[in-house]
Amino acid sequence: MDNHLSAVVIGLGAVGSATLYQLSKLYGSDVLGIEQFVSPHTLGSSHGETRITRLAIGEGEVYSPLAIRSHQIWREIEQKTQLSLFKNVGGLLISSPSASRLHVEGFFETTQAAAKKYKIPHELLDQAEVAKRFPVFNLDDDESAYYEPDAGYLIPELCVKAQLDLAQANGAQIHMNEKLLSYEQIGKQIKLVTSKGEYITDKLILTAGSWLPELLPAKYSQLLEVHRQVLFWFNIKAEHYPQVAPENMPIFIWGIKNSSQGIYGFPVIDGVSGGLKVAMESVAKIDSPDEINREVTNEEIQAMYNIIADKIRYLDGSCVKTAVCMYTVTPDHGFVIDKHPDVDGILIVSPCSGHGFKHSAALGEAFAQIVHDGKSKIDLSPFSSIRFTKEQP
Ligand SMILES: Cc1cc2nc3c(=O)[nH]c(=O)nc-3n(C[C@H](O)[C@H](O)[C@H](O)COP(=O)(O)OP(=O)(O)OC[C@H]3O[C@@H](n4cnc5c(N)ncnc54)[C@H](O)[C@@H]3O)c2cc1C
Repeated sequence: MDNHLSAVVIGLGAVGSATLYQLSKLYGSDVLGIEQFVSPHTLGSSHGETRITRLAIGEGEVYSPLAIRSHQIWREIEQKTQLSLFKNVGGLLISSPSASRLHVEGFFETTQAAAKKYKIPHELLDQAEVAKRFPVFNLDDDESAYYEPDAGYLIPELCVKAQLDLAQANGAQIHMNEKLLSYEQIGKQIKLVTSKGEYITDKLILTAGSWLPELLPAKYSQLLEVHRQVLFWFNIKAEHYPQVAPENMPIFIWGIKNSSQGIYGFPVIDGVSGGLKVAMESVAKIDSPDEINREVTNEEIQAMYNIIADKIRYLDGSCVKTAVCMYTVTPDHGFVIDKHPDVDGILIVSPCSGHGFKHSAALGEAFAQIVHDGKSKIDLSPFSSIRFTKEQP
């Protein structure tokens, strides 16, 4: 068959675009990226204008090397493209004794432990210090904050596009509007059938986001749940724009007291009427990404506003816009990165449980190393699904 490739990447969102870019440096035109829509798009998990990035990772210290390497890669891509992908506005993580769980138990404690371990600059601020430096946040007396100056936000759509453009410049083939339908082992290679053709490849990387469960055997698909998420942009009183502009306001994550929930948000990045983006993680499970409800009700907007009204100052009560996005989560909110159990040469990459964007550049590099050298420089073994099947002592 003519259509033989060294590697094919399925799904060109955050992780797939990064993987294709890194593979293209090694294999040029011998790699192909296949995307069912036209990426970047607003139908998966990598849209909505901003993504938080931070280096000390509360979901687990093992993630910090990925975040640290990703920051280096984003800066390299910026140099190559002259685009501004990463805004280093700092990050504030607010907690209190009754709010220590976010994604995982001990999120705030693990953040501080990771900061110490990897020598990540940070400060611990009490309520008065936060009020002085970042007056937009209205903390209670018993709330305090971890401040990381090297944190900030990424522009997800631009990150995806920049990496696809660079991959294409390196010769990589990119097929948009083409969907992977099936794959099978043929000798030592893999045969792919898509909506537009057939291919033979040595390696296949499945970075299909919320559609990944459809492409996997039950052992894996049963580990993944897709949750509908809503993003809100609330209007700010114009006279207070300076306090919420990116020069003066960091990204934030805020553990809600007496709850295992948190909110997170960003400075106002799009001028005085752009709105302050804020969201709270939802566990509303959906059966299929193709059937997600993308309408946001007034009740949803009001419920979000009620949560933030006494926390974020300068809101005028109106909502500028909303967006719907998908988390695909594992039972412990960790990543799953594994070899396919039945077909040699396939790498399965879970869509990263709502905290993957910041790591995506380094993940792409690691997958390219696995394809090329058989192993990655950053140890990905903590993300194996074996942790779900190991017998507990
Ligand atoms: C609301 C929200 C907020 C988030 N906030 C943060 C944050 O602040 N910081 C952070 O680090 N992370 C955050 N995340 C998580 C992060 O955005 C995701 O982990 C990441 O975007 C997942 O990327 P992905 O490439 O796995 O999935 P996607 O970007 O969805 O890409 C998957 C792609 O595969 C394509 N595809 C699927 N099936 C097929 C097929 N059969 N054939 C061809 N193509 C296919 C899809 O069309 C899609 O383009 C957030 C996620 C959401 C939803």
